[in-house]
Amino acid sequence: MKYEIKITKTERPNERPQDESKLGFGKIFTDHMFLMDYSEDKGWHDARIVPFGPMPTHPASTVFHYGAEVFEGLKAYRNKEGGIQLFRPEENVKRLNNSAARLCLPTLDEEGTLDIIKTLVELEKDWVPKSEGTSLYIRPFIYGNDPHLGVHAVKNAVFAVICSPVGAYYAEGLNPVKIAIESKDVRAVRGGTGEAKCGGNYAASLRAGQKAEENGYTQVLWLDGVERKYIEEVGAMNVMFKINGKVITPALTGSVLPGITRKSCVELLKSWGYEVEERLFSVTELFEAAKNGTLEEAWGTGTAAVVSPIGHLFYEGKEYTVCNNQIGELTQKLYDNLTGIQWGKAEDKFGWINKVCD
Ligand SMILES: *Cc1c(COP(=O)(O)O)cnc(C)c1O
Repeated sequence: MKYEIKITKTERPNERPQDESKLGFGKIFTDHMFLMDYSEDKGWHDARIVPFGPMPTHPASTVFHYGAEVFEGLKAYRNKEGGIQLFRPEENVKRLNNSAARLCLPTLDEEGTLDIIKTLVELEKDWVPKSEGTSLYIRPFIYGNDPHLGVHAVKNAVFAVICSPVGAYYAEGLNPVKIAIESKDVRAVRGGTGEAKCGGNYAASLRAGQKAEENGYTQVLWLDGVERKYIEEVGAMNVMFKINGKVITPALTGSVLPGITRKSCVELLKSWGYEVEERLFSVTELFEAAKNGTLEEAWGTGTAAVVSPIGHLFYEGKEYTVCNNQIGELTQKLYDNLTGIQWGKAEDKFGWINKVCD
Protein backbone atom coordinates (compact mmCIF):
# COMPACT_ATOMS: atom_id res chain seq x y z
CA MET A 1 0.00 0.00 0.00
CA LYS A 2 1.29 3.45 -0.83
CA TYR A 3 0.33 6.69 0.88
CA GLU A 4 -0.77 9.44 -1.44
CA ILE A 5 1.79 12.20 -0.93
CA LYS A 6 0.98 15.82 -1.67
CA ILE A 7 4.14 17.76 -2.50
CA THR A 8 4.48 21.50 -1.85
CA LYS A 9 7.88 22.72 -2.97
CA THR A 10 9.72 25.51 -1.22
CA GLU A 11 9.86 28.88 -2.92
CA ARG A 12 13.08 29.73 -1.15
CA PRO A 13 15.56 26.84 -1.46
CA ASN A 14 18.41 27.00 1.02
CA GLU A 15 21.97 27.44 -0.08
CA ARG A 16 23.64 24.07 -0.14
CA PRO A 17 26.93 23.76 1.75
CA GLN A 18 29.91 24.16 -0.56
CA ASP A 19 32.59 22.77 1.72
CA GLU A 20 31.61 19.15 2.36
CA SER A 21 34.49 18.71 4.81
CA LYS A 22 32.63 20.96 7.27
CA LEU A 23 29.25 19.20 7.26
CA GLY A 24 29.51 17.61 10.69
CA PHE A 25 26.50 15.62 11.92
CA GLY A 26 22.87 16.73 11.93
CA LYS A 27 23.45 20.48 11.85
CA ILE A 28 22.19 21.32 8.35
CA PHE A 29 18.80 20.30 6.99
CA THR A 30 17.44 19.97 3.46
CA ASP A 31 14.70 22.10 1.88
CA HIS A 32 11.76 19.79 2.60
CA MET A 33 10.35 17.42 5.18
CA PHE A 34 7.63 14.80 5.24
CA LEU A 35 4.64 14.98 7.58
CA MET A 36 1.60 12.76 8.10
CA ASP A 37 -1.08 12.84 10.78
CA TYR A 38 -2.79 10.03 12.63
CA SER A 39 -6.07 10.05 14.44
CA GLU A 40 -8.07 7.17 15.81
CA ASP A 41 -11.01 7.77 13.48
CA LYS A 42 -9.14 8.59 10.26
CA GLY A 43 -5.99 6.48 10.67
CA TRP A 44 -2.91 7.87 8.91
CA HIS A 45 -3.92 10.74 6.64
CA ASP A 46 -2.74 13.92 4.97
CA ALA A 47 0.66 12.62 3.81
CA ARG A 48 2.60 15.62 2.61
CA ILE A 49 6.03 16.93 1.74
CA VAL A 50 6.33 20.57 2.74
CA PRO A 51 9.11 23.16 3.10
CA PHE A 52 11.38 22.34 6.07
CA GLY A 53 10.50 24.38 9.14
CA PRO A 54 9.07 24.44 12.67
CA MET A 55 6.07 22.26 13.45
CA PRO A 56 3.45 24.02 15.59
CA THR A 57 2.55 21.61 18.37
CA HIS A 58 -0.06 21.85 21.12
CA PRO A 59 1.55 22.66 24.49
CA ALA A 60 -0.19 19.65 26.08
CA SER A 61 1.03 17.29 23.35
CA THR A 62 1.85 13.79 24.66
CA VAL A 63 5.39 13.94 23.36
CA PHE A 64 6.31 16.82 25.68
CA HIS A 65 4.91 15.36 28.88
CA TYR A 66 5.12 11.58 28.58
CA GLY A 67 7.92 11.07 26.06
CA ALA A 68 5.87 9.23 23.43
CA GLU A 69 8.43 9.22 20.61
CA VAL A 70 10.29 6.67 18.49
CA PHE A 71 12.77 7.26 15.71
CA GLU A 72 15.00 5.73 13.08
CA GLY A 73 18.32 6.63 11.51
CA LEU A 74 19.50 5.57 8.06
CA LYS A 75 21.56 7.04 5.27
CA ALA A 76 21.32 7.69 1.54
CA TYR A 77 24.67 7.13 -0.19
CA ARG A 78 25.87 8.48 -3.53
CA ASN A 79 27.33 5.58 -5.51
CA LYS A 80 30.24 5.84 -7.92
CA GLU A 81 27.94 6.36 -10.92
CA GLY A 82 26.36 9.34 -9.13
CA GLY A 83 23.13 7.49 -8.32
CA ILE A 84 21.59 7.40 -4.84
CA GLN A 85 21.02 4.28 -2.76
CA LEU A 86 19.86 3.13 0.66
CA PHE A 87 21.26 0.32 2.83
CA ARG A 88 18.67 -2.19 4.12
CA PRO A 89 15.96 0.46 4.60
CA GLU A 90 13.29 -2.26 4.94
CA GLU A 91 14.96 -3.18 8.25
CA ASN A 92 14.64 0.40 9.51
CA VAL A 93 10.96 0.52 8.60
CA LYS A 94 10.31 -2.78 10.36
CA ARG A 95 12.17 -1.62 13.46
CA LEU A 96 10.29 1.68 13.48
CA ASN A 97 7.04 -0.28 13.66
CA ASN A 98 8.38 -2.53 16.43
CA SER A 99 9.44 0.53 18.42
CA ALA A 100 6.09 2.23 17.82
CA ALA A 101 4.17 -0.86 18.95
CA ARG A 102 6.18 -0.97 22.20
CA LEU A 103 5.24 2.64 22.98
CA CYS A 104 1.59 2.25 21.91
CA LEU A 105 2.12 4.62 18.99
CA PRO A 106 0.33 3.81 15.72
CA THR A 107 2.31 1.67 13.27
CA LEU A 108 2.79 2.36 9.57
CA ASP A 109 2.37 0.43 6.36
CA GLU A 110 5.92 -0.78 5.63
CA GLU A 111 5.82 -0.61 1.84
CA GLY A 112 4.20 2.84 2.02
CA THR A 113 6.78 4.09 4.52
CA LEU A 114 9.68 2.97 2.33
CA ASP A 115 8.01 4.79 -0.56
CA ILE A 116 7.73 7.96 1.57
CA ILE A 117 11.45 7.84 2.41
CA LYS A 118 12.45 7.23 -1.21
CA THR A 119 10.15 9.99 -2.51
CA LEU A 120 11.63 12.52 -0.07
CA VAL A 121 15.23 11.49 -0.78
CA GLU A 122 14.68 11.66 -4.52
CA LEU A 123 13.21 15.15 -4.18
CA GLU A 124 16.27 16.17 -2.11
CA LYS A 125 18.76 14.31 -4.31
CA ASP A 126 20.95 17.35 -4.89
CA TRP A 127 21.50 17.47 -1.11
CA VAL A 128 23.22 14.06 -1.06
CA PRO A 129 26.88 15.06 -0.74
CA LYS A 130 29.51 13.73 -3.13
CA SER A 131 32.78 13.55 -1.19
CA GLU A 132 34.23 10.30 0.12
CA GLY A 133 32.51 9.14 3.29
CA THR A 134 29.69 11.70 3.23
CA SER A 135 25.98 10.85 3.02
CA LEU A 136 22.46 12.12 3.59
CA TYR A 137 21.27 11.13 7.06
CA ILE A 138 17.54 10.35 7.17
CA ARG A 139 15.64 10.71 10.43
CA PRO A 140 12.08 9.30 10.43
CA PHE A 141 10.18 9.72 13.72
CA ILE A 142 6.72 9.22 15.19
CA TYR A 143 5.40 11.13 18.18
CA GLY A 144 2.23 11.15 20.22
CA ASN A 145 0.25 14.34 19.72
CA ASP A 146 -2.87 14.18 21.89
CA PRO A 147 -3.77 17.71 22.96
CA HIS A 148 -4.59 16.87 26.59
CA LEU A 149 -2.77 15.72 29.71
CA GLY A 150 -4.52 12.44 30.52
CA VAL A 151 -2.19 9.44 30.48
CA HIS A 152 -3.31 6.72 28.07
CA ALA A 153 -2.30 5.07 24.79
CA VAL A 154 -1.95 7.69 22.08
CA LYS A 155 -4.95 8.55 19.88
CA ASN A 156 -3.29 11.24 17.75
CA ALA A 157 0.21 11.07 16.33
CA VAL A 158 2.52 12.54 13.71
CA PHE A 159 4.98 10.74 11.44
CA ALA A 160 7.75 12.99 10.16
CA VAL A 161 10.94 12.53 8.12
CA ILE A 162 13.77 15.05 8.02
CA CYS A 163 17.10 14.80 6.17
CA SER A 164 20.55 16.18 6.91
CA PRO A 165 23.71 16.00 4.79
CA VAL A 166 26.46 14.61 7.04
CA GLY A 167 30.22 14.56 6.82
CA ALA A 168 32.63 11.65 6.86
CA TYR A 169 32.53 10.24 10.39
CA TYR A 170 36.25 9.61 10.33
CA ALA A 171 37.85 12.66 8.78
CA GLU A 172 41.35 11.42 9.72
CA GLY A 173 40.90 7.69 9.28
CA LEU A 174 39.48 5.14 11.70
CA ASN A 175 40.47 6.27 15.20
CA PRO A 176 40.12 3.99 18.23
CA VAL A 177 37.80 5.44 20.89
CA LYS A 178 38.04 5.42 24.69
CA ILE A 179 35.05 3.81 26.37
CA ALA A 180 33.98 4.00 30.02
CA ILE A 181 32.00 1.06 31.42
CA GLU A 182 29.19 2.52 33.53
CA SER A 183 28.63 0.81 36.85
CA LYS A 184 25.94 3.10 38.34
CA ASP A 185 23.39 4.29 35.79
CA VAL A 186 21.67 1.78 33.53
CA ARG A 187 20.22 2.32 30.07
CA ALA A 188 17.53 -0.32 29.97
CA VAL A 189 16.03 -3.33 31.68
CA ARG A 190 14.33 -6.36 30.20
CA GLY A 191 10.67 -5.60 29.83
CA GLY A 192 11.47 -1.90 29.49
CA THR A 193 12.09 -0.01 26.26
CA GLY A 194 15.73 -0.93 25.59
CA GLU A 195 14.96 -2.69 22.32
CA ALA A 196 12.81 0.20 21.05
CA LYS A 197 14.57 3.11 19.39
CA CYS A 198 12.95 5.80 21.50
CA GLY A 199 13.97 9.24 22.65
CA GLY A 200 13.37 8.35 26.30
CA ASN A 201 16.25 5.85 26.31
CA TYR A 202 18.54 8.65 25.27
CA ALA A 203 17.23 11.14 27.82
CA ALA A 204 18.03 8.62 30.56
CA SER A 205 21.53 7.97 29.21
CA LEU A 206 22.77 11.55 29.08
CA ARG A 207 23.99 11.75 32.66
CA ALA A 208 26.39 8.82 32.32
CA GLY A 209 27.49 10.11 28.91
CA GLN A 210 28.30 13.50 30.37
CA LYS A 211 30.28 11.94 33.23
CA ALA A 212 32.26 9.77 30.80
CA GLU A 213 33.06 12.80 28.65
CA GLU A 214 34.25 14.80 31.64
CA ASN A 215 36.66 11.98 32.39
CA GLY A 216 38.00 11.92 28.84
CA TYR A 217 35.96 9.03 27.42
CA THR A 218 33.93 9.30 24.23
CA GLN A 219 31.13 6.89 25.09
CA VAL A 220 29.58 4.74 27.76
CA LEU A 221 29.43 0.96 27.68
CA TRP A 222 26.25 -0.15 29.38
CA LEU A 223 25.84 -3.16 31.59
CA ASP A 224 22.56 -5.02 32.12
CA GLY A 225 20.14 -3.15 34.32
CA VAL A 226 19.57 -5.86 36.92
CA GLU A 227 22.92 -7.40 37.86
CA ARG A 228 25.16 -4.75 36.23
CA LYS A 229 27.28 -7.69 35.16
CA TYR A 230 26.60 -8.42 31.49
CA ILE A 231 27.70 -6.18 28.65
CA GLU A 232 24.86 -4.69 26.62
CA GLU A 233 25.95 -1.97 24.19
CA VAL A 234 27.95 1.22 23.72
CA GLY A 235 26.15 4.58 23.63
CA ALA A 236 24.33 4.45 20.28
CA MET A 237 26.20 1.40 19.04
CA ASN A 238 26.16 -2.34 19.51
CA VAL A 239 29.43 -3.90 20.55
CA MET A 240 31.56 -6.86 19.43
CA PHE A 241 34.71 -8.48 20.80
CA LYS A 242 37.20 -10.74 19.04
CA ILE A 243 38.54 -13.20 21.57
CA ASN A 244 40.78 -16.08 20.61
CA GLY A 245 39.70 -15.87 16.97
CA LYS A 246 35.97 -15.95 17.77
CA VAL A 247 33.59 -13.00 17.72
CA ILE A 248 31.33 -12.46 20.73
CA THR A 249 28.44 -9.98 20.81
CA PRO A 250 25.76 -9.56 23.49
CA ALA A 251 22.57 -11.47 22.66
CA LEU A 252 19.41 -9.51 21.90
CA THR A 253 17.81 -10.17 25.26
CA GLY A 254 15.20 -7.41 25.08
CA SER A 255 17.22 -4.60 26.61
CA VAL A 256 19.66 -4.29 23.69
CA LEU A 257 18.81 -2.31 20.56
CA PRO A 258 18.75 -4.68 17.56
CA GLY A 259 21.18 -2.79 15.31
CA ILE A 260 21.08 -3.25 11.56
CA THR A 261 24.85 -2.74 11.38
CA ARG A 262 25.21 -5.41 14.08
CA LYS A 263 23.06 -7.81 12.08
CA SER A 264 25.02 -7.06 8.87
CA CYS A 265 28.36 -7.59 10.65
CA VAL A 266 27.20 -10.93 12.03
CA GLU A 267 26.09 -12.01 8.53
CA LEU A 268 29.37 -10.85 6.95
CA LEU A 269 31.50 -12.51 9.65
CA LYS A 270 29.66 -15.82 9.27
CA SER A 271 30.06 -15.64 5.48
CA TRP A 272 33.83 -15.31 6.04
CA GLY A 273 33.82 -18.43 8.21
CA TYR A 274 34.06 -16.76 11.63
CA GLU A 275 32.36 -18.29 14.58
CA VAL A 276 30.01 -15.67 16.06
CA GLU A 277 28.57 -16.13 19.54
CA GLU A 278 25.51 -14.10 20.44
CA ARG A 279 25.19 -14.66 24.16
CA LEU A 280 25.39 -13.20 27.64
CA PHE A 281 28.90 -11.84 28.03
CA SER A 282 30.02 -10.60 31.42
CA VAL A 283 32.39 -7.81 32.19
CA THR A 284 34.43 -10.32 34.26
CA GLU A 285 34.88 -12.53 31.21
CA LEU A 286 35.91 -9.49 29.18
CA PHE A 287 38.62 -8.47 31.61
CA GLU A 288 39.89 -12.02 32.00
CA ALA A 289 40.37 -12.04 28.23
CA ALA A 290 42.05 -8.62 28.40
CA LYS A 291 44.43 -9.85 31.12
CA ASN A 292 45.34 -13.19 29.58
CA GLY A 293 45.95 -11.64 26.17
CA THR A 294 43.11 -13.34 24.29
CA LEU A 295 41.11 -10.13 23.75
CA GLU A 296 42.24 -9.29 20.22
CA GLU A 297 39.86 -6.58 19.07
CA ALA A 298 36.78 -4.66 20.20
CA TRP A 299 34.52 -2.41 18.18
CA GLY A 300 31.14 -0.72 18.15
CA THR A 301 28.66 -0.95 15.25
CA GLY A 302 26.06 1.59 14.15
CA THR A 303 24.78 3.51 11.14
CA ALA A 304 26.59 6.77 11.99
CA ALA A 305 30.13 5.39 12.40
CA VAL A 306 29.66 2.00 10.66
CA VAL A 307 32.31 0.38 12.89
CA SER A 308 34.22 2.16 15.60
CA PRO A 309 37.37 0.51 16.98
CA ILE A 310 37.71 0.54 20.77
CA GLY A 311 41.21 1.36 22.01
CA HIS A 312 40.66 1.78 25.75
CA LEU A 313 38.16 0.38 28.24
CA PHE A 314 37.73 1.90 31.69
CA TYR A 315 36.00 0.05 34.53
CA GLU A 316 35.92 0.75 38.26
CA GLY A 317 39.16 2.71 38.43
CA LYS A 318 41.19 0.63 35.97
CA GLU A 319 41.94 1.17 32.32
CA TYR A 320 42.66 -1.58 29.81
CA THR A 321 44.16 -1.11 26.36
CA VAL A 322 42.72 -3.11 23.48
CA CYS A 323 44.76 -4.08 20.40
CA ASN A 324 47.55 -1.61 21.39
CA ASN A 325 45.05 1.19 20.75
CA GLN A 326 45.26 0.34 17.04
CA ILE A 327 42.55 -0.62 14.57
CA GLY A 328 42.31 -4.39 14.48
CA GLU A 329 42.55 -6.25 11.19
CA LEU A 330 39.02 -7.64 11.41
CA THR A 331 37.56 -4.26 12.46
CA GLN A 332 39.16 -2.69 9.39
CA LYS A 333 37.92 -5.52 7.14
CA LEU A 334 34.34 -5.08 8.37
CA TYR A 335 34.57 -1.34 7.84
CA ASP A 336 35.97 -1.71 4.32
CA ASN A 337 33.39 -4.30 3.30
CA LEU A 338 30.35 -2.54 4.74
CA THR A 339 31.29 0.89 3.40
CA GLY A 340 32.18 -0.74 0.06
CA ILE A 341 28.63 -2.08 -0.24
CA GLN A 342 26.99 1.10 1.11
CA TRP A 343 28.74 3.43 -1.34
CA GLY A 344 28.39 0.95 -4.22
CA LYS A 345 32.11 0.30 -4.61
CA ALA A 346 31.81 -3.41 -3.80
CA GLU A 347 29.45 -6.07 -5.10
CA ASP A 348 26.15 -6.27 -3.19
CA LYS A 349 26.19 -10.04 -2.67
CA PHE A 350 23.52 -10.03 0.03
CA GLY A 351 20.99 -7.81 -1.76
CA TRP A 352 21.26 -5.08 0.89
CA ILE A 353 21.09 -2.11 -1.48
CA ASN A 354 17.82 -0.39 -2.39
CA LYS A 355 18.25 2.15 -5.19
CA VAL A 356 16.48 5.52 -5.02
CA CYS A 357 17.49 6.98 -8.38
CA ASP A 358 20.30 6.92 -10.97
C1 LIG B 1 20.37 3.08 16.51
C2 LIG B 1 21.07 2.44 17.65
C3 LIG B 1 22.07 1.45 17.47
C4 LIG B 1 22.62 1.07 16.13
O1 LIG B 1 21.68 0.58 15.22
P1 LIG B 1 21.98 0.60 13.65
O2 LIG B 1 20.74 0.05 13.07
O3 LIG B 1 23.15 -0.27 13.42
O4 LIG B 1 22.25 2.01 13.29
C5 LIG B 1 22.60 0.84 18.60
N1 LIG B 1 22.21 1.21 19.84
C6 LIG B 1 21.28 2.16 20.05
C7 LIG B 1 20.90 2.49 21.44
C8 LIG B 1 20.69 2.81 18.97
O5 LIG B 1 19.79 3.77 19.19
